[in-house]
Amino acid sequence: MMIQIKYNKGSLKAKEILDDCGFEHLLDFPLELFASGLGATVIEKPLINSDGRIIFGKKHTLIEINQNIPFETRKRFTVAHELGHYILHPGLELHNDNESTTSWFNNKENQAKHGKVEYEANQFASELLVPSQMFYEEQKNEKFSPDLLRSLAYKFKVSITAIAFKYFELGSHPISLIHTHNNRVTYWKRPPSYPHFMKNMIKLRPPGDSVATEFFEKGKVYPEKFSKQEIWKSTWFELKDWENDNGFDFYEYCVVSQHYNMTLSIVWEE
Ligand SMILES: [Zn+2]
Repeated sequence: MMIQIKYNKGSLKAKEILDDCGFEHLLDFPLELFASGLGATVIEKPLINSDGRIIFGKKHTLIEINQNIPFETRKRFTVAHELGHYILHPGLELHNDNESTTSWFNNKENQAKHGKVEYEANQFASELLVPSQMFYEEQKNEKFSPDLLRSLAYKFKVSITAIAFKYFELGSHPISLIHTHNNRVTYWKRPPSYPHFMKNMIKLRPPGDSVATEFFEKGKVYPEKFSKQEIWKSTWFELKDWENDNGFDFYEYCVVSQHYNMTLSIVWEE
């Protein structure tokens, strides 16, 4: 069955390019080779304070990727992001990308700060690496769980964070996402029609009884087997006067990135 997928400028362009090149996905095709086919050369070298950058030349465009990025998935995403600039933003001046521009947390604040081009390049990268239609088919008959997200991330060769955002958009089970950096909540989103309302904790510490707090306060990182942790509804959501916390089954899967001192809490109800 085909579902109706809503594409935006960045993702639509990625889809068109895949279609034009006759690829359903790029899972077994080297990304560097794909870039080269489109006319951009990808090289890896040490870069300071930068994950990747793009240099538009008169004849050739160069995409430089920091060879010291510790994660293969992050390198891949950065290549795809720069490729997005190459396709969508020709003539962009020498452009450096780092955690803040290739971040998945494209809230309004971030967009205002880094401009529309970053948002579009990220949307492009997401679609290029994780084609929406294929993603939808992969997960539609599966029960939501941390294991499902991990297996999807492995299959599509992207980070759990990238997959969680894709799942938020297209997944079969409603999930909410909360991003915390240096022990302060920086971003959250819940499904538009979700009946539960999130407490607004932007710039505040995460709730004391959240799994995110266990990481920031005690350094606790759960092994995969225990990554599904039971929490209260009231941990992240508003509990109405007439509601009882015992009447809900909420869970938090806290994806920890020690390298950047940040977490992504994936919260859902069963
Ligand atoms: Zn960029």
